[in-house]
Amino acid sequence: MKKLIAILFMTVFLFGCNPKKEEHKETEKEKTEHQSTEKEPAAILEEGSYVHPDGTICHAQSPINILSFNADSQGMHNITFNFKDEINAVENLGHTVQLDFKEGSTITVDGETFNFRQLHFHTPSEHLIDGVTYPMEMHMVNTLQDQKEGETPQFLVIGALFKMGKESKFISEFINSIPEEEHEKTEVIPGQILVGDLFSERPEDVLDSYYHYMGSLTTPPYTESVRWYVSKHIFEASPQQIKRILEIEGANARHVQSLNDRTLESN
Ligand SMILES: [Zn+2]
Repeated sequence: MKKLIAILFMTVFLFGCNPKKEEHKETEKEKTEHQSTEKEPAAILEEGSYVHPDGTICHAQSPINILSFNADSQGMHNITFNFKDEINAVENLGHTVQLDFKEGSTITVDGETFNFRQLHFHTPSEHLIDGVTYPMEMHMVNTLQDQKEGETPQFLVIGALFKMGKESKFISEFINSIPEEEHEKTEVIPGQILVGDLFSERPEDVLDSYYHYMGSLTTPPYTESVRWYVSKHIFEASPQQIKRILEIEGANARHVQSLNDRTLESN
């Protein structure tokens, strides 16, 4: 048992929640445990901590319940957008509706540049604010531009929460282009669907005020290398628009995870 604890401790220290690691040899007991939790491959170790199938212990998972009274208001980040807003495909991935970005849009935060890759939806929201779940959340997923080969992929995800209200012009631009069949893709000419139509003036407005913390992907392999920026602005979409997206992707929000010793920042 002592040996197992030592192995687990070393794994955390050396690799964090890195699904690429192969050094940890699973015991027979662990193998059995993992087989039985295939879909959500995480065994509860203690509240807020999980053992990944590769043996690492995960402490910094997403999503979280954002408690605004708990946020550290000192968090200031230097954010610049180089946003071309060119979407070239709408995909029905079965578990989510995804829009793909043409290469070229970037976001630079504190000197690190990330490339816009895709945005997708969760119904209901994955992040909660002060215990409140919203009917929908959009994730704009960006990957580090100078990602070193062989290292854990680094992500920056912008979260935007939606409440039911007036029709969203942006969503109306693609709602009829979502393929009926799972794993189908509709190619679109860049310029037809503009995320910019979500924002009142500039795309930068989405991050005028935000919550920030370090977390993970919310789908397997739950890699803990995500800089999360959740906009404080609550966007609006019509009940029909949210219902349509929910009908296609189903309920696809992961449960909230413990903050543990992480800092939640608020600007
Ligand atoms: Zn997501």
